[in-house]
Amino acid sequence: QAKADGGGSFRFFEAGMDASARRLMILETDLRSGLARNEFVLLYQPQLSLRTRRIVGVEALIRWQQPDGILLEPKDFLPLAEETGLIRPLGAWVLQEACRQAAQWNMPGSPPLRVAVNISPLQLRGADLVRTVQTVLAESGLDPTRLDLELTESAVIRDADGVAETLAQLRSLGLRISIDDFGTGYSALSYVRRLPVDRLKIDRSFVENLRPGSADAAIIGAIVALGHNLHLEVAAEGVETEEQVRELAACGCDEVQGYHVGRPMSAAALSELVLDMAAPDA
Ligand code: C2E
Ligand code: MG
Ligand code: MG
Ligand code: MG
Repeated sequence: QAKADGGGSFRFFEAGMDASARRLMILETDLRSGLARNEFVLLYQPQLSLRTRRIVGVEALIRWQQPDGILLEPKDFLPLAEETGLIRPLGAWVLQEACRQAAQWNMPGSPPLRVAVNISPLQLRGADLVRTVQTVLAESGLDPTRLDLELTESAVIRDADGVAETLAQLRSLGLRISIDDFGTGYSALSYVRRLPVDRLKIDRSFVENLRPGSADAAIIGAIVALGHNLHLEVAAEGVETEEQVRELAACGCDEVQGYHVGRPMSAAALSELVLDMAAPDA
């Protein structure tokens, strides 16, 4: 039906394409020019401490703002960036931009925000990650304790011995390492004991149907106990309701992130939210 009305129909067809069809059409050259033309943006999603009920950090999440006004999500272009190796320059840009932004944030009445940056499997295995992070920290002037690198559990498990050294070097810079999507790797949990990490982020699949007394509550309780026994902080992602917040607090979880606290938003919107929450009569 895309052809039925002639001339402008191709555009119509394009606009109606779903994200996966769109992703198939993205070429390596598009990614390259998108990078050269500065079309990528970072959104920031707040992370709330359950102890202080304050926003203590943000996670930087990438979007591709295309010239035609369409905003692409990571799933639409990160797989290709990973396949082509372009994730390396893209990932370096994310680190730079997130650290620059975090160093700029100085919000009265609120503790300095930490910024979490996602690191892809290819970046993690690359020889230059430690040097890149070091350079970005020096150039941005960001206190390393305010940087948190999120590595997915599956990427870490795939080559636990290989990444251990990289993680140790990164950590010696003073930053934190989080294991993202924790619980989805279907692996023996023993790897967390062997790796120098600081924090577990429970995958949102465990949070989705969380109820008091549910199997998910038992699993989350066990992850929190494991984490705390190993002196790790435990956060949960995908928190969409106050009930989930309450249950996660009851499980002893340290921090939560999700639409209930705030959606991924612009740096300006994030500052406003933090200032609002820090205001005495909020
Ligand atoms: P992630 O690191 O696990 O990030 C959390 C994802 O869950 C984000 O999706 C976020 O928008 C979404 N989310 C947050 N709260 C909720 C909620 O309450 N409910 C639901 N249903 N979803 C929620 P997003 O931004 O589409 O990112 C998807 C994944 O892409 C990320 O998963 C991360 O693995 C990857 N990613 C994002 N930005 C970057 C980046 O700069 N570099 C790399 N290497 N990967 C990135
Ligand atoms: Mg998404
Ligand atoms: Mg993450
Ligand atoms: Mg995750």
